[in-house]
Amino acid sequence: MDVLVFSENPHLAAELLSAGAGLAAASGGRAYSVEADSVRQGTHGNALLLRSEVPLLGDPALLAEAISAARKTKVAPVVLIGSTKTGRMVAGGLAVLDQLCVLSDVRDLRVDGGRLTGTRGVYAGKFNALVGGPLPSIALIPQGSYEPFSEPSGPVEEVRVTTGPPKVSREELRSSAKSSLDLRGAKVIVAAGRGLKAKEDLAIVQRLADALGGVIGASRPLSSDLGWLGEEYHIGLTGVYVHPDLYVAVGISGQIQHVAGIRDSKVIVAINRDKQAPIFQVSDYGVVGDLYEVVPALLRALGRP
Ligand SMILES: Cc1cc2nc3c(=O)[nH]c(=O)nc-3n(C[C@H](O)[C@H](O)[C@H](O)COP(=O)(O)OP(=O)(O)OC[C@H]3O[C@@H](n4cnc5c(N)ncnc54)[C@H](O)[C@@H]3O)c2cc1C
Repeated sequence: MDVLVFSENPHLAAELLSAGAGLAAASGGRAYSVEADSVRQGTHGNALLLRSEVPLLGDPALLAEAISAARKTKVAPVVLIGSTKTGRMVAGGLAVLDQLCVLSDVRDLRVDGGRLTGTRGVYAGKFNALVGGPLPSIALIPQGSYEPFSEPSGPVEEVRVTTGPPKVSREELRSSAKSSLDLRGAKVIVAAGRGLKAKEDLAIVQRLADALGGVIGASRPLSSDLGWLGEEYHIGLTGVYVHPDLYVAVGISGQIQHVAGIRDSKVIVAINRDKQAPIFQVSDYGVVGDLYEVVPALLRALGRP
């Protein structure tokens, strides 16, 4: 049984290749990274390079058609797609075209008795549900679920695909105001919450992040509601799920929607002036105190006053 994997994000594609290689090896098959527009993005594993008359990347409908065409060249009852905005659209399109089942946001994948199964966090990550569907199936996999594939580059096969006319046309190319920040890969995150009184106070949280060799993150009110930081900083159920070695929550109450995104952190430290704040229930270390005193004290202790 071969497995096809696709993500427009090269790091996520490498993680999917790991998951795919594990599933394929059990049945003597191979995992192939499907790569669009003849661009070899990964440096590991086997690849199917899609050659098309029209650009595919940026048009999820065309990508779905192209992956459907690639499936005809392999006996690939499992397709793993990175759970990004593009990936979710591609999975939806491919499911309709090829009549496939889709398992959303799953990890711990297995193929057993003609079914693909995986686990999915439910109730804001408090429980794991075992979900499954009949083969052939697509699994959407969030970043951080598997170690990136590290074996050397394998054979590259080209697949010529013919798709319908582009459904999306590019009118103009503008640089994105968004930063390239991707909190999912960060090892140290210092996240700011509504305990901050003003946008300018983000500077002390940033200084703590710098002192710890990390990056800054935020609860939803700071990024989505107040707009003090971009959407890419928003951690939690409706933002990004992170899994750093160290997560420091500064002035964050620890509501379930936020905690859902930080559960996989190795060590959680909370700074909050309310000793009843729910964040302390999920923290390994906690400091009950005013962040405007605690953070400067920490910076002094770290030799970065
Ligand atoms: C459908 C839905 C989805 C959501 N998704 C998300 C999500 O993905 N991510 C997310 O973060 N939220 C999400 N939320 C919002 C969530 O419910 C909370 O409202 C939010 O997480 C609270 O953010 P906060 O902890 O920064 O603010 P607050 O809850 O207001 O907490 C501020 C904390 O700061 C402390 N504090 C105040 N001043 C100081 C000080 N000087 N020193 C120290 N501590 C201080 C307070 O004691 C308090 O605990 C979602 C809500 C809904 C309804």
